[in-house]
Amino acid sequence: MSDAKKQIVIVQLYPRDMNIYGDHGNLQVLVRRLEWYGYAPKVIHYNVGNTFPKSADIVIGGGGQDSGQEKIHADLLKIGPTLKKWAEDGTPMLMVCGLYQLFGHFFRTLNNVSLEGIGVLDVETYGTNERLIGNIVTTSDAFGEIIGYENHSGQTFLGEHVKPFATVVRGAGNNSKDGHEGAIYKNVIGTYLHGSILPKNPAVADFLIKTAVKRKYHAFSKDLIDDMFADMARTIARERPR
Ligand code: GLN
Repeated sequence: MSDAKKQIVIVQLYPRDMNIYGDHGNLQVLVRRLEWYGYAPKVIHYNVGNTFPKSADIVIGGGGQDSGQEKIHADLLKIGPTLKKWAEDGTPMLMVCGLYQLFGHFFRTLNNVSLEGIGVLDVETYGTNERLIGNIVTTSDAFGEIIGYENHSGQTFLGEHVKPFATVVRGAGNNSKDGHEGAIYKNVIGTYLHGSILPKNPAVADFLIKTAVKRKYHAFSKDLIDDMFADMARTIARERPR
């Protein structure tokens, strides 16, 4: 089979309720890069009450207000065991902010409502009166500099079964204390970075794509994409005031 026929299925979780500060750009980047690499992306938008797909090659999800999280919460708990199994099997996933929080053990809101998470990531989140907001620059061994925008009042703390996704250079990240941003477990990335994250950080997009392709088709060897525009966006974003 030629590569052009090779399909990669992307499941986007709750685009109707969990999709803010440009998160939709993450889907657009994955679709376009997969096409540039010669694959056939298929997108499934999964919203509350839909039939959950039987399989996925990449799963992504965005952020939302506390109220959006409350809307999708019961449904997420239903599909949680499947997502957890996929995560354990190595499916690449990217969860931003509100869904990052709910991929953890719980999100305790300021009103003391405890939203149980699905426990894919060993993290806990507590609502606070402090809003961590602004442009953020971080760095990681695996991906280099990762640049984005954060806006959250929940503060997340990592357990021993996850590693931080990145170290904060400028901004807040998971919380106002430990200088870590996001969490990574197997091929699941949780992060507070909106903006959206993938257009400005093609290394992260390619991690998701290459992991998915290698799992499904056993090899990934493609021409490099010219990331001139992403590089220009990174240069500007890096210098923007908090
Ligand atoms: N409601 C959550 C918080 O403020 C998530 C916000 C978001 O997804 N940007 O912590």
